[in-house]
Amino acid sequence: MRLSRYFLPVLKETPAEAQIVSHRYMLRAGMIKQQAAGIYSWLPLGFKVLRKIENIVHEEQARAGHIAIQMPILQPADLWRESGRYDDYGQEMLRMQDRHERDLLYTPTAEEMVTDIFRSHVSSYKDLPLTLYQIQWKFRDEIRPRFGVMRGREFYMKDGYNFDLTKEDALHAYNRHLVSYLRTYERMGLQAIPMRADSGPIGGDDTHEFLVLAETGESEVFYDSAVTDIRLGAREIDYDSHEECRAVMEEFTSLYARTDETHDEAAFNAIPEDRRRSARGIEVGQIFYFGTKYSEPMGAMVQGPDGQKVPVHMGSHGIGVSRLLGAIIEASHDDKGIIWPEGVTPFHVGIVNLRQGDEATDAACEQLYKALNAAGLEPLYDDTEERAGAKFATMDLIGLPWRITVGPRGLKNGVVELTSRRTGESEEMSLEAAIARVQEIYAPHMG
Ligand code: ATP
Ligand code: MG
Repeated sequence: MRLSRYFLPVLKETPAEAQIVSHRYMLRAGMIKQQAAGIYSWLPLGFKVLRKIENIVHEEQARAGHIAIQMPILQPADLWRESGRYDDYGQEMLRMQDRHERDLLYTPTAEEMVTDIFRSHVSSYKDLPLTLYQIQWKFRDEIRPRFGVMRGREFYMKDGYNFDLTKEDALHAYNRHLVSYLRTYERMGLQAIPMRADSGPIGGDDTHEFLVLAETGESEVFYDSAVTDIRLGAREIDYDSHEECRAVMEEFTSLYARTDETHDEAAFNAIPEDRRRSARGIEVGQIFYFGTKYSEPMGAMVQGPDGQKVPVHMGSHGIGVSRLLGAIIEASHDDKGIIWPEGVTPFHVGIVNLRQGDEATDAACEQLYKALNAAGLEPLYDDTEERAGAKFATMDLIGLPWRITVGPRGLKNGVVELTSRRTGESEEMSLEAAIARVQEIYAPHMG
């Protein structure tokens, strides 16, 4: 993309309404525009990152064997009356009527609808296990929408639902989700720690939330500092293996890590004192096992191997796709702007032309731009007439992890400059070497 033809409405001033750094930078970098309290338009740069995050979620869901569907945003209230949640959900649910005075609602989650799909089409244990998921807009009429996309009213969420014959199988689905979530967040350059949590209006016994540690997080958390040393890394996990998924789940959850809702002073104090931590965290996902809570009242039954009809065991599993943009920025920024991890960056590399209009410099930039595109990478080429300082400031603000700077002086010696946004370190090299280096850096992130 050439910046002269892009739509990147960066703001010079810091917007007064933004209280935390991710919200400030998303507004300043022209990623989002607020349209009403907690409701945003996604401008090109923000939309691009949203799509990258969404793609990672889809890829990791596919790897775990989960199947994508799409359910409607507006749902009939009657389904929610069957489960009893139409009355329970309270003021967070946005309710409306159509012209025939039929009650509708804007989906805050979708246990009822997916259970309805299941009961209409599945009747035998032979069709299990089954996990259906979607990535869809949700609405919750939050009392205090704030912090930009972190606590919106309209937000983008991955919600998945497992259907299993037995509790044991459903707990495997739970563990499988836990493992696949770990990989999902790690690919985004995030450490999200699974913590024992409270189940809230979804209901159920087993639930973990995934928290990204950050001072601006809304959740209070308590943990053993040793949990922050564990990574999934490049390990290959067999998602069908109950044992493997359980082993990873135990590895990541046996140390103390809880939100304030389930915090236990005595258990916490049993941790060696130098490892006890209390901090704040951003909830970027949650998994639940709730057994037959929905399948029983809604009649989602299958015939088991013995011919008996039994309600299926279920769980639901959410990832805060739009909230993740805020969480990633909270975890990765400096005083100049965002620092995107390679896995989610909107463009792979910025090209800064230091002397727009200089024939040799323009030609070298064009060559670089074309070669990077041909290599399957997405460069953002600042081909505007801005002075160098302003170009650098914009690149730093929007946070592309790598920048190639091209100017007449370097070209005389046959070099351009490759700069890391994270470390600020620059290295001079030939144009070809810079292209090769950028390709090498992104190789692990190119599907
Ligand atoms: P919270 O406790 O933050 O209100 P929740 O536990 O009610 O969230 P879930 O039902 O678990 O939310 O939804 C799954 C995920 O969706 C959450 O882990 C979070 O990342 C995201 N999410 C929930 N509410 C919002 C919101 N208002 N704005 C943005 N993302 C949200
Ligand atoms: Mg939650």
